[in-house]
Amino acid sequence: MLRENLQEVEKRIQEACARAGRDRSEVTLVSVSKTKPVEMLQEAYDLGVRVFGENKVQEIRDKYDALPKDIEWHMIGHLQTNKVKYIVDKVKLIHSVDSLRLAEIIEKEAEKHNRSVDILLEVNVAEETSKFGLKTVEVIPFAEKIAQFPHINMRGLMTIAPFVDDPEKNRTIFRDLHKLYVDIKEKNIDNGTVSILSMGMTNDYEVAIEEGATMVRIGTGIFGARNYSV
Ligand SMILES: *Cc1c(COP(=O)(O)O)cnc(C)c1O
Repeated sequence: MLRENLQEVEKRIQEACARAGRDRSEVTLVSVSKTKPVEMLQEAYDLGVRVFGENKVQEIRDKYDALPKDIEWHMIGHLQTNKVKYIVDKVKLIHSVDSLRLAEIIEKEAEKHNRSVDILLEVNVAEETSKFGLKTVEVIPFAEKIAQFPHINMRGLMTIAPFVDDPEKNRTIFRDLHKLYVDIKEKNIDNGTVSILSMGMTNDYEVAIEEGATMVRIGTGIFGARNYSV
């Protein structure tokens, strides 16, 4: 099942890139493996997957220890400040920075480990009350502040679009975030390190790619439905 799912997702990514006149190499696939057992991640690894997305600190720690060390782990979920220390040396990218307090703690922990950490700012474009993330108007002032942090590289923006029946309904959200991303790139805020626009999930990644996503986060489409009751 995994092999076929990966092939299907790959095919659709290529088709979306073609429709948008983009090169396939502009889009990174993050395979979202949250809740899935290590054996299934190993199977995906054996099929060539190297970029995994997780949303729980404990799960990243466990899976990091159990799986090959050339995997790129991406933290895509809400991150509590008191847990930053457990993953700061394990993750390649944190997609979900949404407060100055969190950025300060990441800076502090990164300094302790003598490394710099790549992060994205999470933007709640639709301003849904149920979701984390900065408001669109807050993003540029926030980015200017954290550009001063020596151990944080602000690499771009991330959003979780609303859950909708028709992915076309999210097109304007992706377009708006792309516009903000281009603005930030042009302002050259963090020494030109901005090159990632993380948007699009199983239900809407093709539209997100058409609107400029450079990273899509796909769980269900690769690993199947999640079971949260176990
Ligand atoms: C779970 C999750 C995904 C993947 O969702 P699917 O609909 O299963 O593709 C992507 N991004 C974030 C932040 C998630 O928490």
